[in-house]
Amino acid sequence: APARYNHGPAFPDDLRPWQAGLREQFPILTRHPGHSYLDSAATSQKPQAVLDAVNDYLTSGNANAGRGTYPWANRTTALIEQVRHRVREFLADPEPDRSGVHFVGGTTDGLRLIARDWLVHHLRDGDEIIVPFADHSANALPWQEAVDLLGRQGVRVTVRAMPYDPAHDYDHRALPELVTERTRFIATTHVHHVYGGDMNIGRIRAAVGPDVVICLDAAQSVGHLPVSVADLDVDFVAFSGHKAMALPGIGAVWAANRRGAAFVPAGWAGTPNTSGIVSLHAALDWLQAAGVADVARWTVALGARLTDGLSRLSAYEILGCQRSLAADSPVQQRHGIVTFRHRDIGSNDLGFILAAEGFMVRADGHCQAGGGEKTTSVRASLHVYNTVEEVDRLLEVLAGLDTGA
Ligand code: PLP
Repeated sequence: APARYNHGPAFPDDLRPWQAGLREQFPILTRHPGHSYLDSAATSQKPQAVLDAVNDYLTSGNANAGRGTYPWANRTTALIEQVRHRVREFLADPEPDRSGVHFVGGTTDGLRLIARDWLVHHLRDGDEIIVPFADHSANALPWQEAVDLLGRQGVRVTVRAMPYDPAHDYDHRALPELVTERTRFIATTHVHHVYGGDMNIGRIRAAVGPDVVICLDAAQSVGHLPVSVADLDVDFVAFSGHKAMALPGIGAVWAANRRGAAFVPAGWAGTPNTSGIVSLHAALDWLQAAGVADVARWTVALGARLTDGLSRLSAYEILGCQRSLAADSPVQQRHGIVTFRHRDIGSNDLGFILAAEGFMVRADGHCQAGGGEKTTSVRASLHVYNTVEEVDRLLEVLAGLDTGA
């Protein structure tokens, strides 16, 4: 019965008409009524504007970049430069003339690029780096591999594990003890892909001091909340287009120059993913027009409603939620990602049960390198196209599986 959960946190009702207008721009959602796509942390759906932009590019002026003498090629070359500026603008880059933007396949590819083409060239014998091993493995393995490679060349670099607190946030208090005068680099995640928490990068900068290069995995934040490199004071940002309304196979690395993070990727030749770049441009335009701050208000509110509802059902454990629903709780900062498990029903089974009810969620493990959850769980991840009704219907189905304490 809805009464069991239907008194969640105050909802930003002022956003409902705005959200309804946005949702209807996603053709895949209108084509599948009765289905709820709750797996946006894996990949986002695409608005018509992005599909149109790609179609328009491919049917009006598709060409390779940088090597033509004809208008389509010149336009493509100019367009790529334009999208670089668009990325800088979207990230509130305070020094757009000094930063670099490199198009990559996605976050994994971007972080690997930074590790391979920047980090290995900037570490010296005796240096130290800090790696978040309980975050997505894409943000752990490349750094370890870079250090291993250096090790084989006789350059010894110490890798320290980012400390975590019980709520799976970074342990910002323990971090300063790990920082030495040899700490050069720290890899961080903006929003955690399992717990949905904002990992508080401002406190990371405060903890490591002004000289350490900070690399931000923004896979779960770009497109979900305003990401300002000026406010965050980071040196690298990597993100995936496909999680931010663009096509798969395109992403970007932004690199500042202040702490020497600018670099030229090795082997910078070959054909760029032009239609992907076009899709990224359209996606960033769409998100900006929608208003990223309101996107965040919406997904945070939906996530809080889901968390609140789940916390009233005794059969479910919500992960990363030890600090619960206190006024300043991390629930307020959960960016539309809620991960949970049922006391008696296995997470894969729960995933199948939910799929049969029309809910697309992630069930199983969650690509954590180490130090994270060892057992499987179900992750519901929300974006601006999800609705209160979808969350309530999910809670209703979950409540039906609540066997009581
Ligand atoms: N980092 C985080 C936090 C993620 O959530 C993901 C994807 O789930 C990635 C990195 C990897 O992104 P991609 O598969 O687009 O390279």
